[in-house]
Amino acid sequence: LMQLFRPLDMLGWVYRTIRQGLIDMAQMFRLIDTPVEVRDAPGAPALLVRRPSIVFDNVVFGYDRDREILHGLSFEVPPGGNVAIVGPSGAGKSTIARLLFRFYDPWDGQILIEGQDIRTVSQNSLRRQIGIVPQDSVLFNDTIGYNIAYGREGATQDDVIAAARDAAILPFIERLPQGLDTEVGERGLKLSGGEKQRVAIARTLLKNPPILLLDEATSALDTRTEQDIIGTLRRMAQHRTTIAVAHRLSTIADSDMILVLEEGRLIEQGSHPDLLRRDGLYADMWNRQLAEREHALEEPPVELEA
Ligand code: ADP
Ligand code: MG
Repeated sequence: LMQLFRPLDMLGWVYRTIRQGLIDMAQMFRLIDTPVEVRDAPGAPALLVRRPSIVFDNVVFGYDRDREILHGLSFEVPPGGNVAIVGPSGAGKSTIARLLFRFYDPWDGQILIEGQDIRTVSQNSLRRQIGIVPQDSVLFNDTIGYNIAYGREGATQDDVIAAARDAAILPFIERLPQGLDTEVGERGLKLSGGEKQRVAIARTLLKNPPILLLDEATSALDTRTEQDIIGTLRRMAQHRTTIAVAHRLSTIADSDMILVLEEGRLIEQGSHPDLLRRDGLYADMWNRQLAEREHALEEPPVELEA
């Protein structure tokens, strides 16, 4: 009987050993997969910015070791230039924004701001120079004034009011019985998507960053609100080095340069008229969106000169 059991015992041991081995391996891979914590180099100096340019130089990146997302991406935004990034969802557009803000470091290649590799400067100084307006702005459960003032340490009430005016949210605030002291967010007054977006813009205007990152900043809004806010964003982007990720092409058609990203590769680049003449993916997307607009609206779509 013992002789019959021994091999089974043995089998159990082998099974447990193999299983343990697999668990260890899984843990090891999990460790490798975990994004290396982005850390300041010892004694990292502050990013020095006068007229920032942005350079992506052959940037390779993925979130997981076994899946590369950006395959050697290179482009340049000149000082004060406005560059748009468009492309299908999942192409890697937001990833570019996350890398520039240094939530992650590239696997290979480098990202330079005004000639400085962003890995070599302090993260604080980097993030101070960049204002982000995301697709869906989140507000703190605090007053509307606090939510704007957060953009700059030591902002005065006058600063906040000026920023609110520039972001076209001041008339709305002035109609509230408690004005800037109105509680907003989950526990306070619920703001519409457009109002939240304007608060975020006011916050960014107050921050007054030389670099601006707009990641589908208007795509959550209805067309009418979008038109209102686009004017504000355009003014904000003027004289600032700007990267605007856009879903609706009409919002970025006047950019200095449009980069068309597909599956982590730049497949086309140029101005809006250049890209229409090229008759590639951009022209396809443009024509499709134009048709959708004509379908959706009674009034004729905004025509941009080609
Ligand atoms: P886009 O903004 O162009 O729609 P993203 O840059 O957000 O695309 O994503 C590019 C690819 O990276 C997508 O396939 C997405 O699934 C993947 N991805 C995005 N964020 C993560 C993450 N945190 N972990 C793993 N994969 C991610
Ligand atoms: Mg995105």
